Amino acid sequence: MSDFPALLPVYARADIHFERGEGAYLYDDKGQRYLDFVMGIAVASLGHCHPVLVEALKKQTETLWATSNLYKSHGGQRLAERLVALTFADTVFFQNSGVEAWDTGIKIIRKYFSHKGQPNRTRIISFQGCFHGRSMTAIAASKTEKMVGGFGPLVDCFDQVSYGDIDAVRAAITPDTAAIMVEPILGEGGMKVASTEFLQVLRTLCDEQGLLLYFDEIQCGMGRTGKFFAHEYAGVMPDVMCIAKALGNGFPIGACLATAHAAQGMTAGTHGSTYGGNPLAMAVGNAVLDVMTQPDFLPHVTRLGDYFEHVLLDVIAKHPQIFSELRGRGLIRGLVCIVPNTDIVAALQNEKLLTVAASGNVVRLLPPLIATEAQIDEAIAILHLVAEKYVAQKMEKAS
Ligand SMILES: *Cc1c(COP(=O)(O)O)cnc(C)c1O
Repeated sequence: MSDFPALLPVYARADIHFERGEGAYLYDDKGQRYLDFVMGIAVASLGHCHPVLVEALKKQTETLWATSNLYKSHGGQRLAERLVALTFADTVFFQNSGVEAWDTGIKIIRKYFSHKGQPNRTRIISFQGCFHGRSMTAIAASKTEKMVGGFGPLVDCFDQVSYGDIDAVRAAITPDTAAIMVEPILGEGGMKVASTEFLQVLRTLCDEQGLLLYFDEIQCGMGRTGKFFAHEYAGVMPDVMCIAKALGNGFPIGACLATAHAAQGMTAGTHGSTYGGNPLAMAVGNAVLDVMTQPDFLPHVTRLGDYFEHVLLDVIAKHPQIFSELRGRGLIRGLVCIVPNTDIVAALQNEKLLTVAASGNVVRLLPPLIATEAQIDEAIAILHLVAEKYVAQKMEKAS
């Protein structure tokens, strides 16, 4: 036996073993309680082990696990129809993860143009700081050295420009451009929110030039902003959109949504998946929508998001040596740090508040959407405490 780690060491994992989750809290193997503002990175949005989801999954495990997409599925049909009713989309394909759902969108775009007799149109405009997953194609879109280093050759079809830069997008469009692909809120890239104007201009450019607009709402979608999808704030609809994360709340699922027009080339046999749309995932997805479509669900997220913004701005105002800027919307927030963000994430974790770093020296805060004001207050108290301790320690070192 070699002493190479049994788990491939591609993560620098924190030395905590979580054993149980309940609502906004996680419990480790020493019985210590953590307030979770990571939630599996915007996954368990309804809180850990939400009773409605637990019940739906339990029931399904005793009924049916696997049939294959060779056969019709009541659960899949129902979830697809519900997503169609809630969005711009006419059609949905289910996958097992975010990156698979994203990749399906790329295939839909490619097929659309080849079907239309424009097979040269294969290039996609992407944005600096974008994150779409870790498949070979998704890392090619990201272009960061950390993600692509050593993995070449990569598919060469992404033209990257600066996030929010309309002139750069215009300049990047060529006769070979097929689509513009954007996260309405840049997740891993640092919680930047696309302006309404930016998304509107992208839509106009796509319409004028016959391009498809592709949104990745894997992180910012599913109620996190207070609307079902973040792009609804801009009133701009895409042609294709991928979602995942909170659609399953921890059960692996992804979905690619498209208009009938964009999906016209996708006929029987052009795409597939063994596990995508399996009965377990469909049962959970439908249960997630049961909870999220309750009339008070999104208004609660909006109210709590406004409160969160108010108290986070106060944290920045009180600790200008630590934090410089608040980003995000609703319950998807980022604090831009002046000191190293990883120091702050580690210090918060020591005080039993879980957060996650994002690029651009940001600390990401992703509370569960079912959180209470008291739980927000609990997190804010820890943020104040950590900021005070950090400043005190610095002064001690200096003296
Ligand atoms: C997490 C994420 C993905 C990738 O999802 P996986 O399930 O990890 O493959 C893609 N896009 C965005 C915006 C994400 O946040």
